[in-house]
Amino acid sequence: MIGAGAVGAGTAWHLARQGHTVTLIDPSLDAPIQRSNDLDQSLNGTTASLGVLMGNVFRRSSGRAWRLRQRSMELWPQWVERLNHPESPLQLHSSLIQLASDPVEAERMEALANQRHNLGLESFSSVSTESHPVPWPNPGHGGLLSKHDGRIDPLALQRALRRSLKAEKVGLLPARVTKLHRTSIGGENRWHLELGTDRTIDCAVVVLCAALASALLLQPLGHDYPMEAVLGQVLDLQVSAPSKAWDHWPAVLVCNGVNLIRHGNNRLWLGATLEQGEEPSTEEPAIMRRLDGLAPHWLQQAEVIDQWHGLRARPSGQPAPLLEVLEPGLILASGHYRNGVLLAPATADWVGQQISVFIGL
Ligand SMILES: Cc1cc2nc3c(=O)[nH]c(=O)nc-3n(C[C@H](O)[C@H](O)[C@H](O)COP(=O)(O)OP(=O)(O)OC[C@H]3O[C@@H](n4cnc5c(N)ncnc54)[C@H](O)[C@@H]3O)c2cc1C
Repeated sequence: MIGAGAVGAGTAWHLARQGHTVTLIDPSLDAPIQRSNDLDQSLNGTTASLGVLMGNVFRRSSGRAWRLRQRSMELWPQWVERLNHPESPLQLHSSLIQLASDPVEAERMEALANQRHNLGLESFSSVSTESHPVPWPNPGHGGLLSKHDGRIDPLALQRALRRSLKAEKVGLLPARVTKLHRTSIGGENRWHLELGTDRTIDCAVVVLCAALASALLLQPLGHDYPMEAVLGQVLDLQVSAPSKAWDHWPAVLVCNGVNLIRHGNNRLWLGATLEQGEEPSTEEPAIMRRLDGLAPHWLQQAEVIDQWHGLRARPSGQPAPLLEVLEPGLILASGHYRNGVLLAPATADWVGQQISVFIGL
């Protein structure tokens, strides 16, 4: 396994539980799981992420993207139950509210709620009622409540995975893979991995989960899967919201495509921006904060306590994610763009199936 973000670490854990011998390679494996305060440093996607799980409010109701989301939402409670441990506690924070920006969006949300009552979706009108309290001074055009969408803490997830990987005897190799090629050992096809440290490793199956770096490792093998970097910035705000705004705050509130996540006393994470390239803009956080004119006064007045940014890997000219068996024993599971945390369980499940086919189980 190459890459130990949510996708690679989650897949390694799943494969080990299926009985495979797994080695996970990533230069960050000997570092603590935390967000650095170095503003110049881009974090890996998982560490930068907000861990929002928006599976049931997805717009489409068919196709691969919908099936992957539904599979992940089905698997998440099982994953959390197995990964949760007193040394690395993990839980799902449920309930997500999307506020409609205009009447057309409100209508679309109402139609979606009508189709998906069984998935825990309910729409509400512009007036907050006892049964649908909305944590916003003026919910405007109403919105959508999803009881089973929500959030997982991406740092807690990575810590829980790292503990469980050790418990499952997965080899953790803190190194960077610099080159990958096919070789034959005793007439058997193998993959030969060069690591930055003069070390090499041979294996029967390689699963590539290295986000943007996956494309670079594949290019010399003649596999062209270009991806572009889409940077995201998150603000950690100290707010003095009226106490009734907090009373019914869901795990995630989404307004104008921006997530507002309450953490601690009067603290909110606000994110994330969508910026082409790898350099954070100085203007985008302020634009995001205005929520296109919908932000209440107290949000605009909030003090920025911290901020960070990270990169998403977006496949060029193809839908995310890239789940492909490229050659026998070479599997690409990358390019998850905005939903890698959400889709980690479904991705692991898919990789497990491909490996079962490969080894003829
Ligand atoms: C600000 C922000 C907010 C986000 N919010 C959400 C959200 O709310 N919900 C959601 O589902 N998604 C969210 N995302 C997207 C999500 O974070 C990504 O889709 C996801 O993290 C991808 O996971 P990954 O494991 O594929 O990649 P990453 O987490 O980026 O991990 C890739 C790993 O590969 C390693 N690697 C790279 N090159 C090599 C090499 N040559 N050899 C070995 N290892 C290598 C890296 O060190 C890294 O650890 C967000 C992203 C950002 C930036």
